[in-house]
Amino acid sequence: MKQALSGLTPEQINKQCLLDKKFIGKQIFSWIQKPVLDFDKMTNISSVLREKLEKKHKILSSRILGHQEDEYGTQKILIELEDKHRIETVLLNDGKDRQTICLSTQAGCAMKCRFCRTGEMGFKRNLTHYEIIEQYLLMAEKFGNISNVVFMGMGEPLLNLPEVRKAVKILHHLDGQNISLRKMTLSTCGIVKGIKEMTQEGPHIRLALSLFSVDQAVRKQFMPCTKKNPLEDLKEALVEYQAVMKREVTLEITMIKSINDSAQAARAILSWIKPLRVNINLIPLNPGPDSELKAPSPESVNSFKSILQGAGFSVSQRFQKGDSISAACGQLASFT
Ligand code: SF4
Repeated sequence: MKQALSGLTPEQINKQCLLDKKFIGKQIFSWIQKPVLDFDKMTNISSVLREKLEKKHKILSSRILGHQEDEYGTQKILIELEDKHRIETVLLNDGKDRQTICLSTQAGCAMKCRFCRTGEMGFKRNLTHYEIIEQYLLMAEKFGNISNVVFMGMGEPLLNLPEVRKAVKILHHLDGQNISLRKMTLSTCGIVKGIKEMTQEGPHIRLALSLFSVDQAVRKQFMPCTKKNPLEDLKEALVEYQAVMKREVTLEITMIKSINDSAQAARAILSWIKPLRVNINLIPLNPGPDSELKAPSPESVNSFKSILQGAGFSVSQRFQKGDSISAACGQLASFT
């Protein structure tokens, strides 16, 4: 079977394609990362070599099966992997020449957060780093420049950290996209071992934690990963990350009506946060069609926000972009 070149560095391309001139690997890498996903269009490479490449190698291992767009310009693509598993990838457009891609890191997810449809799929398998990169390439080829990357599509990225690390290396490569590490974020449900490993061994990108609630019993009920990753240990890992990285951590709070949207819950978060430096992202629930969970009222979201802002924290609210095409937070799923 031909191996995809999408996730290889220039040096690895030289080796894989048996190229004797080192600069050619760099040229092919730059074309792929542009992305130009057709050997025939790599115009500074001789036609003889392009023909040889076409015969023996391929650029991608996955392909787009479907595409949807909403009224805010949110794009969602359905991708089929080589083994026929399917994943989804979302591109958010914030209207200021900034496009953020949400990359999936696993097909399905084992974490079973109750507010997330991906969790309902169960875990299929980890994605390879080239399958992660290909989501970026396929989206960039279709919709142009992508400025920010978030590892927060399907799956728990800290349970596939070695492949995420390789994907970051390619996305950050000087001869390719060269995306700054500050423009990449890893979003986790809170895997303590993974946060510690990321702090020690990288990738040294931004970190976001889906906090949900600082009430251990409530968190455990909605995020089963809390059993093995209690809040106390989680906080210790975040303090360590911050001591090394000197960066704010983003706390994401998916808000559910009558579960974690009260003023009391907001005040509990305030006392839990210390001594962390954080910014907070409120995500009012996007309930699935059959969900018994309800979205919080705009009033409770506003009052929650005011309490946090009143204590001096920067609080943003994620609007329901992608809702109409099931591309919003917690809505990605492919059951086919
Ligand atoms: S929120 Fe993230 S970690 Fe939790 S089930 Fe969904 S994809 Fe998995």
